[in-house]
Amino acid sequence: MTTSLSPATTIDEFTPEQLELQARARAFVENVLMPLEQEAQKNDGRLPAETVTRIRQEAVAARLQGGRFAPQYGGQGWSMVEWFLVNEQFGRVTNGLHWHVPNAYNVLLQGTPDQIDRYLRPILRGEGGDTAYAVTEEHSGSDPSTIATTARRSDAGWAIDGEKWFVTSGDVANVIIVMGNVIEDGEKLPTLFLVEPDAPGVEFVEDPAYSHSFPHGHPTIRFTGVEVPEEAVIGGIGNGDDLQRAWFTEERLGIATHGLGAMWRLLDEATAWALEREQGGSRIFDYQGVSFPLADSATDAAVGRLLALQVARMVDAEADLKIVHAKASMAKLFVSEAAHRCADRAVQVFGGRGYMRSNVAERFLRELRVDRIWEGTSEIQRLIIARALERRGVERTIH
Ligand SMILES: Cc1cc2nc3c(=O)[nH]c(=O)nc-3n(C[C@H](O)[C@H](O)[C@H](O)COP(=O)(O)OP(=O)(O)OC[C@H]3O[C@@H](n4cnc5c(N)ncnc54)[C@H](O)[C@@H]3O)c2cc1C
Repeated sequence: MTTSLSPATTIDEFTPEQLELQARARAFVENVLMPLEQEAQKNDGRLPAETVTRIRQEAVAARLQGGRFAPQYGGQGWSMVEWFLVNEQFGRVTNGLHWHVPNAYNVLLQGTPDQIDRYLRPILRGEGGDTAYAVTEEHSGSDPSTIATTARRSDAGWAIDGEKWFVTSGDVANVIIVMGNVIEDGEKLPTLFLVEPDAPGVEFVEDPAYSHSFPHGHPTIRFTGVEVPEEAVIGGIGNGDDLQRAWFTEERLGIATHGLGAMWRLLDEATAWALEREQGGSRIFDYQGVSFPLADSATDAAVGRLLALQVARMVDAEADLKIVHAKASMAKLFVSEAAHRCADRAVQVFGGRGYMRSNVAERFLRELRVDRIWEGTSEIQRLIIARALERRGVERTIH
């Protein structure tokens, strides 16, 4: 497929180096990932191991792995704007195929040099390996302060007990970052631990099926007296919440950025179809019932892009983290809701074809739905934004 929008329409907004990076990411997405979408769909998002290896190698050859990690760890050291430009391209592909591009959770940098060598560097070299991040529990979702997982001192270091739900990549990860409470003097100290999945006491309870097709599962994992050494604590005892807040900003902006890529793709495909398809003696695009929803989607995409780019620029300018946090929530809220609307409208534009799994709009309609749920539901984003209105004031929140 060809795309109708060109980065050149945004002259002067990006440096030549940034536009080169965007073009490189775009070529990788269009030449390596998009041709695999149908095969992935037929296999519920899974691809053969040799195909995954090839994607990793091509990503490394295109210098797209480990975007925000510093080059000394094997990453690219991108600014947030550069990371935005690449992730927008990744968002144009269905079936979560960009998940195969080597990357890891940034809290791994809090590990010891040995842990960084063991878990992070091989991933960023494209040699394989995945990380998972386990916070959510059966009775603790939107309110993570209620987690029941505990870590007690033991002869080996720490013993972890608890059960985590929806652990993305928990089925393939070679290390799981687990949030648990260290109890000291009756106080709960949220702390992150590195746990290897083959440690005694780690049990995979179930791997439920979900609406989207995705490269990995989101299993429920139980930890019963799992012994980990002292150095399995990352970022210090009691620092789990702070580390997580910093990560949420990037994750929420990431969801917005991928949603923008999805809208770009949906508009490309649905507009091309509406211009070509004839019914009742004219192009369906000439019916306002078809072209106006596309116009609304284009407006959603353009507005969301301004907001998300503003957040990326604020991160690069090291703006007040509290305002950045609220703005990232706005970007996630607006784009995740808008992208889902856009996918629904695109299905309608395609008619019966839009309901086929081979159709990009059908896949996005299923895949984008979770963006309104994970990394904080839309309601939780509204709570954060409302709190910013109260604490920082209207002007600082909206400008
Ligand atoms: C596919 C998938 C992958 C995931 N991957 C991971 C992962 O890798 N690691 C991880 O830790 N978690 C993961 N999650 C969990 C995800 O972050 C949670 O599902 C999400 O935070 C919501 O929690 P919950 O499902 O328990 O819903 P609940 O918190 O029970 O919420 C249910 C409903 O109540 C609303 N609600 C709750 N509290 C309030 C409030 N205070 N005000 C207004 N409304 C409220 C919510 O918005 C929602 O509509 C994943 C989830 C999915 C579906």
